[in-house]
Amino acid sequence: MEWNELAGRVLAGQDLTNDEAHAILDSPDAELLEVLQAAFQVRKRQAGMGVRVHVLQNAKSGACPEDCTFCTQSVQYQTDAAIYPRQSVDDLVEGARQAVKMGAVTYCMVTATRSPSSSDLETMCRAATAIKKNYNIKLCASLGLLNSREAQSLAQAGVDRYNHNLETSASHFPQVCSTHSFGDRVATVKAARGAGMEACCGGIMGMGESPKDRIDLAFTLRELDVESIPINFLDPRPGTPMASVERVSPRDALRTLALVRLANPKAIDIRLAGGREIVLGPLQPLALFAANSIFTNGYLTTSGQGPSADLSMIRAAGFEAEVLEN
Ligand code: SF4
Repeated sequence: MEWNELAGRVLAGQDLTNDEAHAILDSPDAELLEVLQAAFQVRKRQAGMGVRVHVLQNAKSGACPEDCTFCTQSVQYQTDAAIYPRQSVDDLVEGARQAVKMGAVTYCMVTATRSPSSSDLETMCRAATAIKKNYNIKLCASLGLLNSREAQSLAQAGVDRYNHNLETSASHFPQVCSTHSFGDRVATVKAARGAGMEACCGGIMGMGESPKDRIDLAFTLRELDVESIPINFLDPRPGTPMASVERVSPRDALRTLALVRLANPKAIDIRLAGGREIVLGPLQPLALFAANSIFTNGYLTTSGQGPSADLSMIRAAGFEAEVLEN
């Protein structure tokens, strides 16, 4: 494969083909930097050398009734994840203040729920209104499955973006979860978009999926025209059914990020999410050549390397964290 020519075709507006997607995932180690360079050309046009830093707020942890087999927050598995009820409006606003202090451009409030209760929704809407009044920050919510009415309420309260990951391909999804379907997830993404919110929607790599599953996910995200794509790498957690799954290799993680970037050239954010430190190891800075966004300060139930190390990594690799005036 001529990687530079592939980048040129994508930059000219051609969709990545199935054969090209497979070639990326099958590329030899000796061509890894060329594959990343192809992804970087698209990343650079879309986001320059900027890195968008996002902060997650675990607004209700654990005791989720769903059975997602990778997740420590499912009530169905014995894990060491914290369990606590939904936080108050004041807690959520304080979380936003801290996120602003860390230099975040997006603050995402997350609850471990199948879908929001009416009181969850009311609290999130009140928090959103207060946060938007006080801070210049993009606001995201991730509350599980959503219908159109609930999506409208969040959008009207000031939530800019709704997160609901597809997690994996449609055909692999039943191996990952049985309590809701891939179609339920797609419907939620569409409800969020229909209400005027941006869609934040990605997945988790390393759950026993095939290369074809990764490609199907990347292409489904393209069909949905998703604005923001978080890519997690499974760090198998004790107590979950996926506890003994093998981690993705760092080089395959980089190939996967290049695939997602080249398949979704118009996405505003391709984000390095959970598992990036443990899976990418010393290759982590290279991932910024495909991705233009990171979560800092941890991933709901696991910690990361922290904002200070993240900012040092961004600068050392020649990138620049984007900032908002507050
Ligand atoms: S719905 Fe979310 S919080 Fe609940 S088990 Fe699945 S991934 Fe975990």
